[in-house]
Amino acid sequence: TAKSDGRNTIRFFDPHIQKIMEEKSSMLQQLRDAIDSEQFVLFYQPQVDANANVTGVEALIRLKATNGELISPMQFIPLCEESGLIIPLGDWVLKEAMAQVKYWQNDVEKSTWRVSINVSTKQFEREDFVETVQKTLASTQINPSLICLELTESLLIRDSAKALAKIRELKMLGVSLSVDDFGTGYSSLQYLKHLNVDELKIDQSFVRDFILNRSDALIVETIISIGKSFNMEVIAEGVETKEQFELLKEMECHYFQGYFFGKPAAFDAI
Ligand code: C2E
Ligand code: MG
Ligand code: MG
Ligand code: MG
Repeated sequence: TAKSDGRNTIRFFDPHIQKIMEEKSSMLQQLRDAIDSEQFVLFYQPQVDANANVTGVEALIRLKATNGELISPMQFIPLCEESGLIIPLGDWVLKEAMAQVKYWQNDVEKSTWRVSINVSTKQFEREDFVETVQKTLASTQINPSLICLELTESLLIRDSAKALAKIRELKMLGVSLSVDDFGTGYSSLQYLKHLNVDELKIDQSFVRDFILNRSDALIVETIISIGKSFNMEVIAEGVETKEQFELLKEMECHYFQGYFFGKPAAFDAI
């Protein structure tokens, strides 16, 4: 422990901070081991059209703890991003999701499902990201149009010239692109004009209360009309009730995702 000399009482080895740091480093070690031994699983949540027909799924990662418990990505993705572990993990997600698409090609109903894959900022910013996507597509030999990459708004604004160039390259591979959690970032209309993406995904925070909350309803309407103006499809996430589904349909939202249609589930359970 740091000794206090009376003048300067900053304690570098605060036992509380020490404990947090130890927990973090043990968590990091666990994550490293989990990546090495592939202790992750992708769950899939349906995305539906206005007739409630499934058109695709979003792949959502879970960590399988040794006791069989499934750990939410909110609990480990931030640490993976901070430590760089998101690179090998993101590579695994790409491979696993594309292998799943390949597997579903033998299923009459599921062969047309598009799989949406979440991409983190660090992953996207890597020099070899496009190449990684391209190689994974090539090795699984699936139709690229069955893959949608979900990018966040903040990722797109960070270094916009570079991001726009990367998006062009990804589009040339034939994959679709979606802007996840749309409305929570700060993209300008000027920027959107140049953004060659296929889909805007309305953040669930706006969907949650838009039936009662006038400003949330306005935001939802605005996003749908932005989508129309820029020729992008719009999907709402976090749809939990029939009322939300009906009202979103009236607002001419194209696609819907949420507990009302199905919770994320293992590949053989959906
Ligand atoms: P996201 O991409 O915005 O995913 C939507 C989250 O909302 C998911 O949480 C999903 O299970 C949850 N959700 C879906 N429908 C409903 C609903 O009707 N009501 C409510 N309250 N929630 C709903 P999940 O699976 O815990 O994932 C959380 C976040 O973790 C994701 O947010 C995404 O940012 C990140 N994530 C998940 N999988 C991956 C991955 O493979 N790679 C990366 N980089 N991030 C991932
Ligand atoms: Mg997502
Ligand atoms: Mg989202
Ligand atoms: Mg979200």
